Amino acid sequence: TNLLYQPINKLNTALESYTKGVAGFKRYLEIIDEVPDIREAPDAINLPSVRGDIHYKNITFGYEGHANVLSNVSFSIRAGETVAFVGPSGAGKSTICSLLPRFYDPGQGVITLDGIDIKDLSLNCLRTNIGVVQQDVFLFSGTLRDNIAYGMLNAGEAEIWEAARRARIDDFIRSQPDGLDTVIGERGVKLSGGQKQRVAIARMFLKNPPILILDEATSALDTETELLIQQSLDELSKGRTTLIIAHRLATIKNADRIIVVTDKGISEQGHHNELVTGNGLYSRLYTAQFRSG
Ligand code: ATP
Repeated sequence: TNLLYQPINKLNTALESYTKGVAGFKRYLEIIDEVPDIREAPDAINLPSVRGDIHYKNITFGYEGHANVLSNVSFSIRAGETVAFVGPSGAGKSTICSLLPRFYDPGQGVITLDGIDIKDLSLNCLRTNIGVVQQDVFLFSGTLRDNIAYGMLNAGEAEIWEAARRARIDDFIRSQPDGLDTVIGERGVKLSGGQKQRVAIARMFLKNPPILILDEATSALDTETELLIQQSLDELSKGRTTLIIAHRLATIKNADRIIVVTDKGISEQGHHNELVTGNGLYSRLYTAQFRSG
Protein backbone atom coordinates (compact mmCIF):
# COMPACT_ATOMS: atom_id res chain seq x y z
CA THR A 1 0.00 0.00 0.00
CA ASN A 2 2.70 2.45 0.83
CA LEU A 3 4.21 2.40 -2.56
CA LEU A 4 2.62 5.36 -4.07
CA TYR A 5 3.52 7.41 -1.07
CA GLN A 6 7.21 6.87 -1.14
CA PRO A 7 8.20 9.69 -3.44
CA ILE A 8 5.32 11.71 -2.08
CA ASN A 9 6.44 11.19 1.49
CA LYS A 10 9.78 12.62 0.53
CA LEU A 11 7.99 15.61 -0.71
CA ASN A 12 5.76 15.90 2.32
CA THR A 13 8.81 16.24 4.49
CA ALA A 14 10.16 18.91 2.23
CA LEU A 15 6.85 20.67 2.21
CA GLU A 16 6.18 20.57 5.90
CA SER A 17 8.01 23.81 6.52
CA TYR A 18 6.76 25.12 3.24
CA THR A 19 3.45 26.80 3.74
CA LYS A 20 3.03 28.79 0.56
CA GLY A 21 0.72 26.58 -1.44
CA VAL A 22 1.35 27.71 -4.95
CA ALA A 23 5.10 27.86 -4.66
CA GLY A 24 4.77 24.54 -2.86
CA PHE A 25 3.29 22.94 -5.89
CA LYS A 26 6.16 24.00 -8.13
CA ARG A 27 8.51 22.62 -5.55
CA TYR A 28 6.47 19.39 -5.66
CA LEU A 29 7.24 18.93 -9.32
CA GLU A 30 10.90 19.67 -8.75
CA ILE A 31 11.20 17.19 -5.93
CA ILE A 32 9.30 14.50 -7.78
CA ASP A 33 11.68 14.98 -10.68
CA GLU A 34 14.56 14.22 -8.40
CA VAL A 35 13.53 10.59 -7.92
CA PRO A 36 16.65 8.83 -9.19
CA ASP A 37 16.79 7.23 -12.62
CA ILE A 38 13.64 8.88 -13.87
CA ARG A 39 14.83 10.91 -16.80
CA GLU A 40 12.98 13.00 -19.29
CA ALA A 41 13.56 12.32 -22.98
CA PRO A 42 15.59 15.04 -24.74
CA ASP A 43 12.71 16.02 -27.03
CA ALA A 44 9.97 15.26 -24.55
CA ILE A 45 6.45 15.63 -25.88
CA ASN A 46 3.82 17.89 -24.35
CA LEU A 47 0.40 16.71 -25.42
CA PRO A 48 -2.08 19.54 -25.84
CA SER A 49 -4.81 17.27 -24.50
CA VAL A 50 -4.94 13.76 -23.10
CA ARG A 51 -7.77 11.28 -23.68
CA GLY A 52 -6.52 8.71 -21.20
CA ASP A 53 -6.06 5.49 -23.19
CA ILE A 54 -3.59 3.36 -21.28
CA HIS A 55 -1.68 0.23 -22.30
CA TYR A 56 0.76 -1.76 -20.20
CA LYS A 57 2.70 -4.07 -22.50
CA ASN A 58 4.77 -6.91 -21.06
CA ILE A 59 5.80 -5.00 -17.97
CA THR A 60 8.47 -6.47 -15.74
CA PHE A 61 9.50 -4.59 -12.64
CA GLY A 62 11.36 -5.21 -9.41
CA TYR A 63 12.54 -2.76 -6.78
CA GLU A 64 16.25 -2.25 -6.76
CA GLY A 65 17.95 -5.18 -5.09
CA HIS A 66 14.71 -7.19 -4.89
CA ALA A 67 13.08 -9.91 -6.94
CA ASN A 68 10.57 -8.93 -9.60
CA VAL A 69 7.18 -7.84 -8.33
CA LEU A 70 5.68 -7.76 -11.84
CA SER A 71 6.59 -10.20 -14.59
CA ASN A 72 5.28 -9.74 -18.08
CA VAL A 73 2.13 -7.91 -17.03
CA SER A 74 -0.11 -6.60 -19.82
CA PHE A 75 -3.48 -4.89 -19.76
CA SER A 76 -5.31 -1.98 -21.35
CA ILE A 77 -7.64 0.66 -19.98
CA ARG A 78 -9.88 2.60 -22.31
CA ALA A 79 -10.26 6.35 -21.95
CA GLY A 80 -12.89 7.04 -19.33
CA GLU A 81 -12.94 3.51 -17.93
CA THR A 82 -12.83 2.81 -14.18
CA VAL A 83 -10.71 -0.18 -13.27
CA ALA A 84 -10.38 -1.60 -9.77
CA PHE A 85 -7.22 -3.53 -8.89
CA VAL A 86 -7.89 -6.16 -6.26
CA GLY A 87 -5.89 -9.02 -4.84
CA PRO A 88 -3.85 -10.14 -1.88
CA SER A 89 -1.64 -7.74 0.02
CA GLY A 90 1.78 -7.40 -1.56
CA ALA A 91 0.71 -8.69 -4.96
CA GLY A 92 1.72 -5.46 -6.66
CA LYS A 93 -1.42 -3.34 -7.08
CA SER A 94 0.23 -0.15 -5.86
CA THR A 95 3.35 -0.93 -7.82
CA ILE A 96 1.36 -1.22 -11.04
CA CYS A 97 -0.22 2.17 -10.43
CA SER A 98 3.01 3.89 -9.41
CA LEU A 99 4.54 3.13 -12.80
CA LEU A 100 2.01 5.31 -14.61
CA PRO A 101 3.18 8.70 -13.24
CA ARG A 102 6.73 7.29 -13.56
CA PHE A 103 7.50 7.17 -9.86
CA TYR A 104 9.47 4.17 -11.09
CA ASP A 105 10.29 2.90 -14.57
CA PRO A 106 9.75 -0.74 -15.54
CA GLY A 107 12.78 -2.92 -16.22
CA GLN A 108 11.16 -4.24 -19.36
CA GLY A 109 8.06 -3.42 -21.32
CA VAL A 110 6.32 -0.27 -22.40
CA ILE A 111 3.50 1.80 -20.98
CA THR A 112 1.67 4.01 -23.43
CA LEU A 113 -0.71 6.90 -22.90
CA ASP A 114 -2.86 7.72 -25.92
CA GLY A 115 -0.50 5.53 -27.93
CA ILE A 116 2.69 7.33 -26.86
CA ASP A 117 5.38 5.72 -24.72
CA ILE A 118 5.14 7.60 -21.41
CA LYS A 119 8.95 7.85 -21.43
CA ASP A 120 8.61 10.14 -24.45
CA LEU A 121 6.27 12.52 -22.65
CA SER A 122 7.52 15.40 -20.55
CA LEU A 123 7.20 14.58 -16.85
CA ASN A 124 5.19 17.72 -16.40
CA CYS A 125 2.74 16.71 -19.10
CA LEU A 126 2.44 13.20 -17.69
CA ARG A 127 1.96 14.23 -14.09
CA THR A 128 -0.33 17.20 -14.56
CA ASN A 129 -2.66 14.82 -16.39
CA ILE A 130 -2.68 12.26 -13.59
CA GLY A 131 -4.31 13.05 -10.28
CA VAL A 132 -3.41 10.87 -7.31
CA VAL A 133 -5.76 10.62 -4.33
CA GLN A 134 -4.16 8.71 -1.52
CA GLN A 135 -5.48 7.30 1.68
CA ASP A 136 -2.94 9.30 3.66
CA VAL A 137 -4.06 12.68 2.53
CA PHE A 138 -1.47 15.38 2.43
CA LEU A 139 -2.66 18.81 3.51
CA PHE A 140 -0.40 21.64 4.56
CA SER A 141 -0.86 24.26 7.26
CA GLY A 142 -2.75 27.07 5.66
CA THR A 143 -6.29 27.94 4.71
CA LEU A 144 -8.90 25.63 3.26
CA ARG A 145 -8.82 27.81 0.16
CA ASP A 146 -5.07 27.30 -0.32
CA ASN A 147 -5.40 23.59 0.25
CA ILE A 148 -8.17 23.18 -2.30
CA ALA A 149 -6.61 25.50 -4.86
CA TYR A 150 -3.18 23.93 -4.33
CA GLY A 151 -1.11 24.66 -7.41
CA MET A 152 -3.96 26.26 -9.31
CA LEU A 153 -3.03 29.90 -9.49
CA ASN A 154 -6.03 31.05 -11.41
CA ALA A 155 -8.78 29.32 -9.48
CA GLY A 156 -11.61 31.72 -8.81
CA GLU A 157 -13.90 31.84 -5.79
CA ALA A 158 -16.83 30.27 -7.64
CA GLU A 159 -14.73 27.39 -8.97
CA ILE A 160 -13.34 26.66 -5.52
CA TRP A 161 -16.84 26.52 -4.05
CA GLU A 162 -18.03 24.31 -6.89
CA ALA A 163 -15.15 21.89 -6.27
CA ALA A 164 -15.98 21.93 -2.54
CA ARG A 165 -19.62 21.22 -3.27
CA ARG A 166 -18.83 18.29 -5.54
CA ALA A 167 -16.50 16.91 -2.88
CA ARG A 168 -19.28 17.29 -0.27
CA ILE A 169 -17.10 19.51 1.94
CA ASP A 170 -18.97 22.79 1.29
CA ASP A 171 -21.31 22.45 4.28
CA PHE A 172 -18.36 22.05 6.60
CA ILE A 173 -16.62 25.09 5.11
CA ARG A 174 -19.77 27.15 5.48
CA SER A 175 -20.07 26.10 9.12
CA GLN A 176 -16.69 27.68 9.88
CA PRO A 177 -16.74 31.39 10.82
CA ASP A 178 -13.87 32.09 8.43
CA GLY A 179 -15.21 29.92 5.62
CA LEU A 180 -12.60 29.25 2.96
CA ASP A 181 -10.13 31.35 4.94
CA THR A 182 -10.26 28.94 7.86
CA VAL A 183 -6.74 27.97 8.83
CA ILE A 184 -6.25 24.23 9.15
CA GLY A 185 -3.36 22.18 10.47
CA GLU A 186 -1.24 22.56 13.53
CA ARG A 187 -2.20 26.09 14.42
CA GLY A 188 -5.73 25.93 13.08
CA VAL A 189 -8.77 23.73 12.91
CA LYS A 190 -8.02 20.04 13.06
CA LEU A 191 -9.80 18.08 10.36
CA SER A 192 -11.09 14.55 10.69
CA GLY A 193 -9.75 11.88 8.33
CA GLY A 194 -12.92 12.07 6.26
CA GLN A 195 -12.78 15.86 6.02
CA LYS A 196 -9.17 15.74 4.89
CA GLN A 197 -10.07 13.26 2.20
CA ARG A 198 -12.86 15.46 0.95
CA VAL A 199 -10.51 18.47 0.79
CA ALA A 200 -8.16 16.32 -1.30
CA ILE A 201 -11.08 15.30 -3.53
CA ALA A 202 -12.11 18.96 -3.93
CA ARG A 203 -8.54 19.68 -5.03
CA MET A 204 -8.90 17.01 -7.71
CA PHE A 205 -12.18 18.45 -8.99
CA LEU A 206 -10.38 21.73 -9.43
CA LYS A 207 -7.28 20.20 -10.98
CA ASN A 208 -9.55 18.21 -13.29
CA PRO A 209 -7.04 15.66 -14.63
CA PRO A 210 -8.24 13.18 -17.29
CA ILE A 211 -6.60 10.32 -15.37
CA LEU A 212 -7.03 9.43 -11.71
CA ILE A 213 -5.29 7.02 -9.40
CA LEU A 214 -7.28 6.38 -6.23
CA ASP A 215 -5.63 4.57 -3.40
CA GLU A 216 -8.57 3.62 -1.23
CA ALA A 217 -8.42 3.83 2.51
CA THR A 218 -8.31 0.51 4.28
CA SER A 219 -9.12 2.07 7.61
CA ALA A 220 -12.77 2.27 8.46
CA LEU A 221 -14.56 5.59 8.39
CA ASP A 222 -18.00 6.01 9.88
CA THR A 223 -20.80 4.95 7.55
CA GLU A 224 -22.02 8.43 6.76
CA THR A 225 -18.55 9.73 5.93
CA GLU A 226 -17.84 6.66 3.87
CA LEU A 227 -21.01 7.23 1.87
CA LEU A 228 -20.16 10.91 1.28
CA ILE A 229 -16.69 10.00 0.12
CA GLN A 230 -17.96 7.18 -2.06
CA GLN A 231 -20.44 9.50 -3.74
CA SER A 232 -17.89 12.22 -4.38
CA LEU A 233 -15.31 9.74 -5.68
CA ASP A 234 -17.92 8.22 -8.00
CA GLU A 235 -18.63 11.67 -9.36
CA LEU A 236 -14.92 12.48 -9.61
CA SER A 237 -14.15 9.37 -11.61
CA LYS A 238 -16.96 9.95 -14.13
CA GLY A 239 -15.54 10.65 -17.56
CA ARG A 240 -11.97 10.07 -16.39
CA THR A 241 -9.73 7.08 -16.79
CA THR A 242 -9.59 5.81 -13.21
CA LEU A 243 -7.29 3.25 -11.63
CA ILE A 244 -8.39 2.27 -8.14
CA ILE A 245 -6.33 0.32 -5.67
CA ALA A 246 -9.51 -1.06 -4.25
CA HIS A 247 -10.44 -2.29 -0.82
CA ARG A 248 -14.12 -1.46 -0.62
CA LEU A 249 -16.75 -3.71 -2.03
CA ALA A 250 -18.96 -0.83 -3.17
CA THR A 251 -16.15 0.55 -5.34
CA ILE A 252 -15.25 -2.83 -6.69
CA LYS A 253 -18.82 -3.71 -7.62
CA ASN A 254 -19.31 -0.40 -9.41
CA ALA A 255 -16.05 -0.52 -11.37
CA ASP A 256 -16.32 -1.04 -15.13
CA ARG A 257 -13.74 -3.75 -14.77
CA ILE A 258 -11.89 -5.55 -12.00
CA ILE A 259 -8.32 -6.67 -12.52
CA VAL A 260 -7.28 -9.37 -10.08
CA VAL A 261 -3.58 -9.20 -9.26
CA THR A 262 -1.74 -12.05 -7.57
CA ASP A 263 1.96 -12.63 -7.05
CA LYS A 264 1.85 -14.55 -10.33
CA GLY A 265 0.49 -11.58 -12.23
CA ILE A 266 -3.01 -10.83 -13.47
CA SER A 267 -5.12 -13.89 -12.81
CA GLU A 268 -8.45 -12.70 -14.19
CA GLN A 269 -10.35 -9.61 -15.20
CA GLY A 270 -13.94 -8.68 -15.85
CA HIS A 271 -16.98 -7.11 -14.29
CA HIS A 272 -17.99 -8.08 -10.77
CA ASN A 273 -21.02 -9.99 -12.05
CA GLU A 274 -18.88 -12.17 -14.33
CA LEU A 275 -16.10 -12.80 -11.85
CA VAL A 276 -18.29 -13.55 -8.88
CA THR A 277 -19.99 -16.42 -10.65
CA GLY A 278 -16.68 -17.84 -11.89
CA ASN A 279 -14.43 -20.12 -9.93
CA GLY A 280 -11.36 -17.91 -9.85
CA LEU A 281 -9.67 -16.06 -7.01
CA TYR A 282 -12.20 -13.23 -7.09
CA SER A 283 -15.18 -15.40 -6.27
CA ARG A 284 -13.20 -16.96 -3.43
CA LEU A 285 -12.09 -13.55 -2.12
CA TYR A 286 -15.64 -12.33 -2.40
CA THR A 287 -17.05 -15.22 -0.47
CA ALA A 288 -14.37 -15.06 2.19
CA GLN A 289 -14.01 -11.34 2.75
CA PHE A 290 -16.67 -9.27 1.24
CA ARG A 291 -19.92 -11.06 1.90
CA SER A 292 -19.84 -10.18 5.56
CA GLY A 293 -18.67 -6.58 5.08
P1 ATP B 1 -1.40 -3.94 -0.50
O1 ATP B 1 -2.73 -4.54 -0.83
O2 ATP B 1 -0.90 -4.39 0.81
O3 ATP B 1 -1.40 -2.46 -0.66
P2 ATP B 1 -0.11 -4.27 -3.08
O4 ATP B 1 -0.76 -5.33 -3.86
O5 ATP B 1 -0.41 -2.85 -3.41
O6 ATP B 1 -0.32 -4.52 -1.53
P3 ATP B 1 2.62 -3.45 -3.45
O7 ATP B 1 2.52 -2.40 -2.40
O8 ATP B 1 2.63 -3.04 -4.86
O9 ATP B 1 1.45 -4.51 -3.24
O10 ATP B 1 3.91 -4.32 -3.13
C1 ATP B 1 4.35 -5.38 -3.94
C2 ATP B 1 5.62 -5.96 -3.37
O11 ATP B 1 6.69 -5.03 -3.51
C3 ATP B 1 5.54 -6.31 -1.90
O12 ATP B 1 6.23 -7.52 -1.71
C4 ATP B 1 6.26 -5.16 -1.23
O13 ATP B 1 6.84 -5.58 -0.04
C5 ATP B 1 7.30 -4.80 -2.24
N1 ATP B 1 7.68 -3.38 -2.18
C6 ATP B 1 6.86 -2.33 -2.19
N2 ATP B 1 7.54 -1.18 -2.17
C7 ATP B 1 8.83 -1.48 -2.13
C8 ATP B 1 10.04 -0.71 -2.11
N3 ATP B 1 10.03 0.60 -2.12
N4 ATP B 1 11.20 -1.39 -2.08
C9 ATP B 1 11.22 -2.73 -2.08
N5 ATP B 1 10.12 -3.51 -2.11
C10 ATP B 1 8.93 -2.90 -2.14
